This record gives sequence, C-alpha cells and structure tokens, in this order.
Amino acid sequence: MKRTDWDKRIQRAVELAERNPSAAEVLTLYRHIMEFQKTLCADVASVSPSLAGAEAPFRERLDLDIAVEQLPALLALVQRTGPAKLAQEAAEIGAGKLHLSSLPCYASSEEQREMLRSFLLSTDGNEPEANHFFARVLLQPQAEHLAATQQTQSVDSSASVCPVCGARPQVAVLRPEGDGGKRFLVCSFCATEWEFRRILCPVCGEVDHQKLPRYSAEDFAAVRVEACDTCKYYLKSVDMTVDGLAVPLVDEIATASLDIWAVEHGFNKISPNLMGF
Ligand SMILES: [Zn+2]
Ligand SMILES: [Zn+2]
Repeated sequence: MKRTDWDKRIQRAVELAERNPSAAEVLTLYRHIMEFQKTLCADVASVSPSLAGAEAPFRERLDLDIAVEQLPALLALVQRTGPAKLAQEAAEIGAGKLHLSSLPCYASSEEQREMLRSFLLSTDGNEPEANHFFARVLLQPQAEHLAATQQTQSVDSSASVCPVCGARPQVAVLRPEGDGGKRFLVCSFCATEWEFRRILCPVCGEVDHQKLPRYSAEDFAAVRVEACDTCKYYLKSVDMTVDGLAVPLVDEIATASLDIWAVEHGFNKISPNLMGF
C-alpha cells in the first residue's frame, strides 16, 4: 500500500476548482482541510511505532489524544474559512457545547474526546451527525497512515466494506487492466482500495446488470453514478481509463451535481463524503 500523496490531492482540487466554477467553493474549503490534514501527518508519523505495534482492532489503534490536541487548530480553521453553519458548529465544539446542552460545560476536552470516540465506534462511520466532520478530518490522516502500514492480504472481491477498517466505500475506481478496466472500491475512512467485481451492488449484492444502471453527465467524462434499482443505493465511480489524471477522492467531491441528480431520482448515497454530500 502507498502513502497518502496530499500534494497530489491538493493540486487536483485547485485544478478542478478552476475548471468547474460551480464546485469552486466546496473545493476551496476541501483544499484548506487537506492542507491542514497534511500537517497532521507529520505528527502521526512521529508516533507511528506505537500505533503500528499493537494487535488491537484497527480503530482502537488510532490515537485520540493526538486528535484532541489537534482539534483547536481545526476549529479555528473552520471558523475562519468554513461556511456559516459549520463555523457555528466549530464555535460550539470549542466552547464545549457538543450536544447543544444547556448544562454548564466542565470538561470540554473529555467531551471532545468522546465526540471522536463516538465517530470511531459508529460502524459505518457515516451517520449524519455534524460532529463527525471534525472527527473525520482529524482521524483520517492517522487512519490512512496506519492503513498504509498494514500488510496487503488477498481480499474477497465481493467485500462490501473496507477490509482494513470496516468503513463503507466512498467511491469506485476503474483502473486500466488489459483491454478493459478493473473496478476497485476506495474506503471512506482509511482510503484503502480493494478490488471489487464490476457487476455487483456493494450494498445488497444485486448482480443483474439491468438493475444496476450507470448515469453520466456531459460535464464529467470520467465520473458517473453507479446505482442499484433493487436497494436504491448509489456511489460514484471515477474511470481512470478516461482521465488518467483523476484523483478519485477529489473528483468525487468535485462532482456534487451528480449527487444532486441521484438524490432527486430517489437514490441514497452509500457513504457521504467528507464535505457532507
Ligand atoms: Zn478503511
Ligand atoms: Zn443494491
């Protein structure tokens, strides 16, 4: 497995924002977030021996203390650059009012730790709790770093959740292979990629290709919606045989209009992305 190339992701976000003005706002925030996450990696790298040495389950090996230490910087960043609603949430978390409770706050760092833990314990990591945005931003670099140290095992190509951390897939990727493409799923948390059958719904296991429609838009040649008429879930896929410069997690965020279309047509996303859609 390879290390996260933050610069490549950041550069792609800059390029796609220029090319696609309607996505510029979300991509600019995403770029700020990734620049922040990149700085976290240095901290993570310095503690990795203890993380990597443990035999505990993957999610228990992430260091919540480091994440809590890094939280104030993230809250400040979001208050400075985020949209109003997120900035408001950042202010509330900073003040220790995580649950909008009227109780006086007496241990905000413990509450902040609890916020991170509740994200880790949620099995699919994608419950629609706003606080999860902050937990995801802080823990994702650690998770990617730790996942990169894991030994690659042969993985069942019908595994619907990440073989490393158990999270749901964020996006599918088609990579050139022979005269076609191989399909992989990319984890929404630790960014591990695992091979996945071309004609198979990751949620309900549907294999009838007539019930697995694909939708694309002219604006995005390499990105399409892969839906399932049986369970009504979808995710997007990025076709590297069409655009070899694509960065799947970034291109996924740059194509919100496809998500709007899918939701309007009655589909639910398998896993909301970091930016919340
Ligand atoms: Zn994972
Ligand atoms: Zn399905």
